[in-house]
Amino acid sequence: MLESRINIAMKLSINGATTMTADLETDIRSAAAAGYDLVELRSNKLYDYLETRTVDDLKALLAETGIGVLSINTLEHITWRSDEDHAAILAECKKLCEISQAIGCPYVLSVPGALRQGPKTDEETIVESVRVLNELADIAEPYGIKIGFEFLGEAGNSVTTLDLGSKIVNLVNRDSVGNVIDTYHFYAGSSSFEALEALDPKKLFIFHINDAEDLPKSELNDSKRLYPGLGILPITEMKQRLDAIGYDGPASVEIFRPEYWEQDPFEVAKAAKDAAERALNIGKYAAGGSW
Ligand code: ZN
Repeated sequence: MLESRINIAMKLSINGATTMTADLETDIRSAAAAGYDLVELRSNKLYDYLETRTVDDLKALLAETGIGVLSINTLEHITWRSDEDHAAILAECKKLCEISQAIGCPYVLSVPGALRQGPKTDEETIVESVRVLNELADIAEPYGIKIGFEFLGEAGNSVTTLDLGSKIVNLVNRDSVGNVIDTYHFYAGSSSFEALEALDPKKLFIFHINDAEDLPKSELNDSKRLYPGLGILPITEMKQRLDAIGYDGPASVEIFRPEYWEQDPFEVAKAAKDAAERALNIGKYAAGGSW
Protein backbone atom coordinates (compact mmCIF):
# COMPACT_ATOMS: atom_id res chain seq x y z
CA MET A 1 0.00 0.00 0.00
CA LEU A 2 1.55 3.21 -1.13
CA GLU A 3 -0.75 5.85 0.29
CA SER A 4 0.31 7.38 3.53
CA ARG A 5 -2.43 7.54 6.14
CA ILE A 6 -1.08 10.83 7.36
CA ASN A 7 -2.01 13.73 5.17
CA ILE A 8 1.22 15.65 5.20
CA ALA A 9 0.78 19.38 4.95
CA MET A 10 2.53 20.45 1.78
CA LYS A 11 3.33 24.11 1.31
CA LEU A 12 2.46 25.46 -2.11
CA SER A 13 4.62 27.75 -4.21
CA ILE A 14 4.51 29.18 -7.72
CA ASN A 15 7.52 29.53 -10.00
CA GLY A 16 7.91 32.72 -12.03
CA ALA A 17 8.11 30.66 -15.22
CA THR A 18 4.36 30.14 -14.97
CA THR A 19 3.88 33.88 -15.49
CA MET A 20 7.05 34.35 -17.53
CA THR A 21 6.12 37.66 -19.18
CA ALA A 22 5.19 39.32 -15.88
CA ASP A 23 7.89 41.16 -13.97
CA LEU A 24 9.24 40.18 -10.56
CA GLU A 25 6.99 42.51 -8.58
CA THR A 26 3.92 41.19 -10.42
CA ASP A 27 5.02 37.60 -9.73
CA ILE A 28 5.28 38.35 -6.03
CA ARG A 29 2.01 40.30 -5.85
CA SER A 30 0.04 37.77 -7.91
CA ALA A 31 1.40 34.84 -5.88
CA ALA A 32 0.49 36.58 -2.61
CA ALA A 33 -2.96 37.53 -3.89
CA ALA A 34 -3.66 33.92 -4.92
CA GLY A 35 -2.73 32.73 -1.43
CA TYR A 36 0.48 30.79 -2.06
CA ASP A 37 2.80 30.25 0.90
CA LEU A 38 5.90 30.75 -1.23
CA VAL A 39 7.20 31.97 -4.58
CA GLU A 40 10.20 30.96 -6.68
CA LEU A 41 11.96 33.92 -8.26
CA ARG A 42 13.45 33.68 -11.77
CA SER A 43 16.96 35.09 -11.77
CA ASN A 44 16.48 36.98 -15.05
CA LYS A 45 13.49 38.85 -13.60
CA LEU A 46 15.44 39.48 -10.41
CA TYR A 47 18.28 41.07 -12.39
CA ASP A 48 15.79 43.25 -14.27
CA TYR A 49 14.23 44.32 -10.96
CA LEU A 50 17.60 45.19 -9.43
CA GLU A 51 18.45 47.51 -12.33
CA THR A 52 16.19 50.14 -10.83
CA ARG A 53 15.65 48.91 -7.29
CA THR A 54 17.59 47.39 -4.38
CA VAL A 55 17.57 44.21 -2.36
CA ASP A 56 16.10 46.29 0.50
CA ASP A 57 13.22 47.27 -1.82
CA LEU A 58 12.68 43.58 -2.48
CA LYS A 59 12.69 42.82 1.24
CA ALA A 60 10.11 45.55 1.79
CA LEU A 61 7.91 44.17 -1.00
CA LEU A 62 8.09 40.67 0.50
CA ALA A 63 7.25 42.03 3.96
CA GLU A 64 4.32 44.02 2.57
CA THR A 65 2.87 41.05 0.68
CA GLY A 66 3.67 38.52 3.40
CA ILE A 67 4.95 35.85 1.02
CA GLY A 68 8.18 33.88 1.44
CA VAL A 69 10.74 33.13 -1.27
CA LEU A 70 11.40 29.43 -1.76
CA SER A 71 14.19 29.64 -4.31
CA ILE A 72 16.00 31.75 -6.81
CA ASN A 73 16.43 29.90 -10.10
CA THR A 74 18.36 29.04 -12.13
CA LEU A 75 22.11 28.50 -12.32
CA GLU A 76 21.89 27.26 -15.90
CA HIS A 77 23.70 24.16 -17.16
CA ILE A 78 26.34 24.04 -14.44
CA THR A 79 28.36 21.16 -15.92
CA TRP A 80 30.39 20.55 -19.09
CA ARG A 81 31.12 24.25 -19.49
CA SER A 82 34.16 26.20 -20.68
CA ASP A 83 36.50 27.55 -17.99
CA GLU A 84 35.17 31.04 -18.63
CA ASP A 85 31.52 29.97 -18.32
CA HIS A 86 32.33 27.92 -15.25
CA ALA A 87 33.92 30.94 -13.54
CA ALA A 88 30.83 33.00 -14.40
CA ILE A 89 28.55 30.36 -12.87
CA LEU A 90 30.54 30.35 -9.63
CA ALA A 91 30.35 34.16 -9.51
CA GLU A 92 26.62 34.11 -10.17
CA CYS A 93 26.16 31.51 -7.45
CA LYS A 94 27.88 33.82 -4.95
CA LYS A 95 25.72 36.76 -6.00
CA LEU A 96 22.47 34.75 -5.76
CA CYS A 97 23.49 33.35 -2.38
CA GLU A 98 24.10 36.88 -1.05
CA ILE A 99 20.65 37.97 -2.20
CA SER A 100 19.02 34.76 -0.95
CA GLN A 101 20.51 35.24 2.48
CA ALA A 102 19.30 38.85 2.59
CA ILE A 103 15.70 37.93 1.70
CA GLY A 104 15.46 34.70 3.74
CA CYS A 105 15.35 32.39 0.74
CA PRO A 106 16.78 28.92 1.49
CA TYR A 107 17.58 27.57 -1.99
CA VAL A 108 19.40 28.48 -5.18
CA LEU A 109 18.54 26.04 -7.98
CA SER A 110 20.83 24.60 -10.62
CA VAL A 111 20.39 22.37 -13.65
CA PRO A 112 22.88 20.05 -15.37
CA GLY A 113 24.73 20.85 -18.55
CA ALA A 114 23.77 19.76 -22.03
CA LEU A 115 25.96 17.30 -23.92
CA ARG A 116 27.05 19.74 -26.59
CA GLN A 117 30.42 18.08 -27.11
CA GLY A 118 29.01 14.62 -27.63
CA PRO A 119 27.90 11.83 -25.33
CA LYS A 120 29.41 11.14 -21.93
CA THR A 121 29.19 8.01 -19.87
CA ASP A 122 27.16 8.18 -16.65
CA GLU A 123 30.45 7.73 -14.79
CA GLU A 124 31.94 10.83 -16.46
CA THR A 125 28.78 12.82 -15.74
CA ILE A 126 28.81 11.72 -12.10
CA VAL A 127 32.43 12.85 -11.63
CA GLU A 128 31.78 16.21 -13.34
CA SER A 129 28.48 16.87 -11.52
CA VAL A 130 29.84 15.96 -8.08
CA ARG A 131 32.84 18.22 -8.66
CA VAL A 132 30.77 21.26 -9.66
CA LEU A 133 28.06 20.76 -7.01
CA ASN A 134 30.78 20.60 -4.34
CA GLU A 135 32.18 23.91 -5.60
CA LEU A 136 28.72 25.51 -5.51
CA ALA A 137 28.09 24.12 -2.01
CA ASP A 138 31.44 25.55 -0.85
CA ILE A 139 30.18 28.96 -1.99
CA ALA A 140 26.62 28.56 -0.64
CA GLU A 141 27.24 27.08 2.80
CA PRO A 142 28.80 30.17 4.42
CA TYR A 143 25.59 32.02 3.51
CA GLY A 144 23.42 29.25 4.95
CA ILE A 145 22.04 28.57 1.45
CA LYS A 146 21.41 25.16 -0.13
CA ILE A 147 21.83 24.18 -3.77
CA GLY A 148 18.99 22.32 -5.49
CA PHE A 149 19.96 20.12 -8.45
CA GLU A 150 17.16 19.59 -10.97
CA PHE A 151 17.67 16.90 -13.62
CA LEU A 152 16.28 17.71 -17.09
CA GLY A 153 14.46 14.87 -18.80
CA GLU A 154 14.79 15.97 -22.39
CA ALA A 155 17.27 14.15 -24.63
CA GLY A 156 20.66 15.85 -24.93
CA ASN A 157 20.96 16.73 -21.24
CA SER A 158 23.66 15.08 -19.16
CA VAL A 159 21.36 14.14 -16.25
CA THR A 160 17.94 13.11 -17.54
CA THR A 161 16.63 10.93 -14.68
CA LEU A 162 16.04 11.06 -10.96
CA ASP A 163 17.95 7.78 -10.86
CA LEU A 164 21.16 9.48 -11.96
CA GLY A 165 20.47 12.85 -10.30
CA SER A 166 19.81 11.20 -6.96
CA LYS A 167 22.99 9.13 -7.27
CA ILE A 168 24.98 12.34 -7.82
CA VAL A 169 23.33 14.10 -4.86
CA ASN A 170 24.03 11.09 -2.62
CA LEU A 171 27.67 11.04 -3.69
CA VAL A 172 28.02 14.76 -2.95
CA ASN A 173 26.71 13.78 0.49
CA ARG A 174 26.26 17.27 1.93
CA ASP A 175 23.17 18.65 3.68
CA SER A 176 23.50 21.70 1.45
CA VAL A 177 22.89 19.81 -1.83
CA GLY A 178 19.61 18.10 -2.72
CA ASN A 179 17.32 17.09 -5.56
CA VAL A 180 14.57 19.05 -7.24
CA ILE A 181 12.06 16.79 -8.97
CA ASP A 182 9.92 18.18 -11.75
CA THR A 183 6.92 16.09 -12.85
CA TYR A 184 7.55 16.96 -16.51
CA HIS A 185 11.24 16.03 -16.40
CA PHE A 186 10.51 12.89 -14.39
CA TYR A 187 8.19 11.71 -17.17
CA ALA A 188 10.13 13.05 -20.17
CA GLY A 189 13.35 11.30 -19.13
CA SER A 190 11.62 8.10 -17.98
CA SER A 191 12.80 8.24 -14.38
CA SER A 192 11.90 5.16 -12.35
CA PHE A 193 9.38 5.07 -9.53
CA GLU A 194 11.94 2.94 -7.69
CA ALA A 195 14.26 5.97 -7.57
CA LEU A 196 11.41 7.98 -6.03
CA GLU A 197 10.67 5.26 -3.49
CA ALA A 198 14.36 5.01 -2.54
CA LEU A 199 14.72 8.74 -1.98
CA ASP A 200 15.74 10.11 1.41
CA PRO A 201 13.12 12.86 1.89
CA LYS A 202 15.82 15.15 3.32
CA LYS A 203 17.54 14.95 -0.07
CA LEU A 204 14.46 16.32 -1.87
CA PHE A 205 14.28 20.09 -1.59
CA ILE A 206 11.44 21.01 -3.98
CA PHE A 207 8.76 19.21 -6.00
CA HIS A 208 7.98 21.09 -9.24
CA ILE A 209 4.47 20.25 -10.35
CA ASN A 210 2.90 20.65 -13.78
CA ASP A 211 1.18 18.49 -16.36
CA ALA A 212 1.84 17.92 -20.08
CA GLU A 213 -0.04 17.27 -23.27
CA ASP A 214 -0.60 13.72 -24.48
CA LEU A 215 2.18 13.63 -27.09
CA PRO A 216 5.01 11.22 -27.84
CA LYS A 217 7.97 12.03 -25.56
CA SER A 218 10.00 13.06 -28.60
CA GLU A 219 7.47 15.84 -29.29
CA LEU A 220 7.21 17.09 -25.72
CA ASN A 221 8.94 20.27 -24.63
CA ASP A 222 8.46 22.90 -21.94
CA SER A 223 5.84 24.76 -23.99
CA LYS A 224 3.57 21.68 -23.87
CA ARG A 225 3.22 21.89 -20.12
CA LEU A 226 -0.28 22.36 -18.67
CA TYR A 227 -1.99 23.11 -15.39
CA PRO A 228 -1.76 20.07 -13.08
CA GLY A 229 -4.56 17.62 -13.77
CA LEU A 230 -5.11 18.55 -17.42
CA GLY A 231 -2.56 16.20 -18.97
CA ILE A 232 -0.98 12.78 -18.81
CA LEU A 233 1.82 13.13 -16.23
CA PRO A 234 1.70 10.63 -13.31
CA ILE A 235 1.20 13.32 -10.66
CA THR A 236 -1.01 11.18 -8.42
CA GLU A 237 1.41 8.26 -8.57
CA MET A 238 4.34 10.54 -7.78
CA LYS A 239 2.53 12.23 -4.89
CA GLN A 240 1.71 8.80 -3.41
CA ARG A 241 5.43 7.94 -3.39
CA LEU A 242 6.34 11.29 -1.86
CA ASP A 243 3.80 10.75 0.91
CA ALA A 244 5.11 7.22 1.42
CA ILE A 245 8.71 8.39 1.95
CA GLY A 246 7.51 11.15 4.27
CA TYR A 247 8.33 14.13 2.08
CA ASP A 248 6.93 17.24 3.74
CA GLY A 249 8.67 19.89 1.67
CA PRO A 250 7.02 22.28 -0.76
CA ALA A 251 5.41 21.77 -4.15
CA SER A 252 5.84 24.56 -6.68
CA VAL A 253 3.77 25.05 -9.82
CA GLU A 254 6.15 25.57 -12.74
CA ILE A 255 4.67 25.83 -16.22
CA PHE A 256 6.29 27.27 -19.35
CA ARG A 257 3.20 27.59 -21.53
CA PRO A 258 3.15 30.64 -23.83
CA GLU A 259 -0.65 30.49 -23.93
CA TYR A 260 -0.76 31.22 -20.18
CA TRP A 261 1.81 34.01 -20.52
CA GLU A 262 -0.72 35.98 -22.58
CA GLN A 263 -3.25 35.87 -19.77
CA ASP A 264 -3.62 38.02 -16.64
CA PRO A 265 -0.88 36.77 -14.26
CA PHE A 266 -3.21 37.21 -11.27
CA GLU A 267 -5.73 34.88 -12.92
CA VAL A 268 -3.03 32.40 -13.96
CA ALA A 269 -1.63 32.27 -10.42
CA LYS A 270 -5.12 31.57 -9.04
CA ALA A 271 -5.92 28.91 -11.66
CA ALA A 272 -2.55 27.22 -11.12
CA LYS A 273 -3.11 27.08 -7.36
CA ASP A 274 -6.55 25.56 -7.65
CA ALA A 275 -5.32 22.99 -10.19
CA ALA A 276 -2.29 22.06 -8.06
CA GLU A 277 -4.32 21.67 -4.87
CA ARG A 278 -6.80 19.47 -6.68
CA ALA A 279 -4.07 17.32 -8.29
CA LEU A 280 -2.18 16.93 -4.99
CA ASN A 281 -5.25 16.52 -2.76
CA ILE A 282 -4.15 19.40 -0.57
CA GLY A 283 -5.64 22.70 0.53
CA LYS A 284 -9.39 22.70 0.07
CA TYR A 285 -9.16 19.35 -1.74
CA ALA A 286 -7.46 17.57 1.20
CA ALA A 287 -9.20 14.25 1.75
CA GLY A 288 -9.39 14.61 5.54
CA GLY A 289 -11.42 11.90 7.23
CA SER A 290 -12.27 9.90 4.13
CA TRP A 291 -10.36 6.86 5.45
ZN1 ZN B 1 11.35 22.51 -12.79
